[in-house]
Amino acid sequence: MTVFRISRRRLFVTAGAGVVSLAVVNTVSACSTSSPPAEPVLTSDAPLPQSTALPTGWHRVDRSYVSAYLLLRGKEVAIVDTGTQGSASAIEDGLKAAGSGWSAVKHVILTHYHDDHIGGLEGVEPQVKATIYAGEFDYGNIISDKPIKPVRDGEEIFGLRVVNTPGHTRGHISLFEPDTGTLVAGDALRTQNGLEGSDPQFTTDPTTAVASVKMLAALDVKAILPGHGEPLTSGAKEALQKLAASL
Ligand SMILES: [Zn+2]
Repeated sequence: MTVFRISRRRLFVTAGAGVVSLAVVNTVSACSTSSPPAEPVLTSDAPLPQSTALPTGWHRVDRSYVSAYLLLRGKEVAIVDTGTQGSASAIEDGLKAAGSGWSAVKHVILTHYHDDHIGGLEGVEPQVKATIYAGEFDYGNIISDKPIKPVRDGEEIFGLRVVNTPGHTRGHISLFEPDTGTLVAGDALRTQNGLEGSDPQFTTDPTTAVASVKMLAALDVKAILPGHGEPLTSGAKEALQKLAASL
């Protein structure tokens, strides 16, 4: 039995294929070996999210411990992952810094159900008229006031191809933008210590996670935007192929 996460609202415990939820009080949320953050304190003096040299249209909302990403196309925006609980203000800052705002958000895509990727959804939902998506094998584990649309491998959302990357969680998805070679990898890949696969400590099925990395290495990847660590915007394909060959 593995305890994956504890949130204010739920404790998820996996037992075989079943998922049991219990109400708890304290927050302990992690799917990386980095220390979970203290409760975020957001003030009007908080610095705007960093703007790094990402592929055209992409913006990072850097929550230090974890990142969310924004994709702007014309007047529409997609948000990929929502950070930890309390991240909505930082996402709003990111939208403003990109010259946009909540009203442009039409898609909210969640790579998997861990709290540090869906925690901000609670604050995002009331702000947007958007479709919320998650992988067909993870969406049922996400608590949401609005319906979540399950997506399958190969589906396209806003020019992003859904790529099933199971292992970290059963229903983990990555998003690949063929036009720019951008891969939003969720927790299938991480970059805190060079490019690595899913953190074994928080991986449901290590063998499947390795298979997912090898599959991603076959894509024509030019930039990797991970949940944890800095984006990798040069030499990404070579680094990914080297990683896949080492596993
Ligand atoms: Zn995770």
